[in-house]
Amino acid sequence: MQGKIVKGIAGFYYVHVVESGVYECKAKGIFRKDKKKPLVGDDVEIEVLSEVEKTGSIINIFERKNELIRPAVANIDQALVVFAAAKPSPHFNLLDRFLVMMQTKEIPVILCFNKEDIASEEKLSELADIYEKCGCQLIFVSAKEEKNMETLRRMLEGKTTAIAGPSGVGKSSIINLLNPKANMETGSISRKIERGKHTTRHSELFMIGEDSYIMDTPGFSSLYVNDFEKEELKYYFPEFELYEGQCRFNGCDHIHEPGCAVKEAVEKGKIHAVRYEDYKELYEELKNKRRY
Ligand code: GDP
Ligand code: ZN
Repeated sequence: MQGKIVKGIAGFYYVHVVESGVYECKAKGIFRKDKKKPLVGDDVEIEVLSEVEKTGSIINIFERKNELIRPAVANIDQALVVFAAAKPSPHFNLLDRFLVMMQTKEIPVILCFNKEDIASEEKLSELADIYEKCGCQLIFVSAKEEKNMETLRRMLEGKTTAIAGPSGVGKSSIINLLNPKANMETGSISRKIERGKHTTRHSELFMIGEDSYIMDTPGFSSLYVNDFEKEELKYYFPEFELYEGQCRFNGCDHIHEPGCAVKEAVEKGKIHAVRYEDYKELYEELKNKRRY
């Protein structure tokens, strides 16, 4: 039988099979030899041990589309980066850090501003201005008033989406709306896990449709943007690309170089100043290789 690992805890893997539910599985010894550890998100083949107790063994892991180290998860199609349009208003540097991180992993981003109901018109258009050219899809929703949630649902259809963002922005509210059964579905799993309950949170996939999953990613809140060189950073700001070829110097980093077309575009308002300021800040950080 084929399924997807939706949760892994203390050597147990919870494998969701579309037609028949969730099985508690152990990985067979072969994986230990290969040093290939099953990850949440893996598509796997299982052998059912007991249909009554819903237990089985993982006998094969299918080839991964991609693999993240932190959090350890496989086969992510896209990220849903959630910030609140208000209360709290977005911390731009943190937001851009999220976007850069996803860019480095080549994970397409849907940038979602929640709490549209309590944000001013000015704030909403400011956010649209800053992020319209950032290379990601942009959506404004209100989980509270269930506004635009159907559009969001369609954007997630048939995909495995990692949801990321600071706390308090409405991630849980969104997950619950997308999957009213989330609590029910995981109920049986939680009972089994209760015995060896850990204080740390684990990555978990929730089914939100036939072939659509959403993953809450606790690990995404601590972000390192320093596993690459400062010279590489500019490539993760897609709105710079249009001007890059016009800088006076080849390999211009758009910081202090004279004749910089990117800086000029910022001055003319063609690239948003907020994005450029964050670029400079992250650049400085990479230069000093400070850790956060
Ligand atoms: P999380 O920490 O990101 O999972 O955020 P929660 O889903 O727990 O929401 C944090 C707070 O924001 C709660 O008090 C929610 O009721 C509130 N909230 C969530 N979505 C909305 C929204 O669309 N509009 C408003 N006004 N409040 C919201
Ligand atoms: Zn330049």
